[in-house]
Amino acid sequence: MSLTLILNENDVFKSNSQKIRVMSELWVESNIFCPNCGKTLNKFENNRPVADFYCEGCKEEYELKSKKNTLGQKIVDGAYSTMLERISSDNNPNFFFLTYSSHNFEIRDFLSIPKHFFGKYD
Ligand SMILES: [Zn+2]
Repeated sequence: MSLTLILNENDVFKSNSQKIRVMSELWVESNIFCPNCGKTLNKFENNRPVADFYCEGCKEEYELKSKKNTLGQKIVDGAYSTMLERISSDNNPNFFFLTYSSHNFEIRDFLSIPKHFFGKYD
């Protein structure tokens, strides 16, 4: 298992955050199996709101959040309302949290948090 994010030579993305997104998705795709059933994870097409991967076996969905250095207390997400809607829905995703070193792109942490821990509690 490789523990470093690899920059794709054909990467045409300009911004750092896009590069990291592509690199971390590639890492998950080649190293991580479905925590629920052990089968292969597939990538959804880009720009799908809140879900990056799905399992070809059990159909669970996974959203990947990557952050440099440490997890800290907050994970920033793009669209708050989309996220809120998604985690309250019937097929809310499980989450992967990945942290990497900003110096050498080594992976520091990789966590899988089951979907049951996210939701709206009234
Ligand atoms: Zn599965």
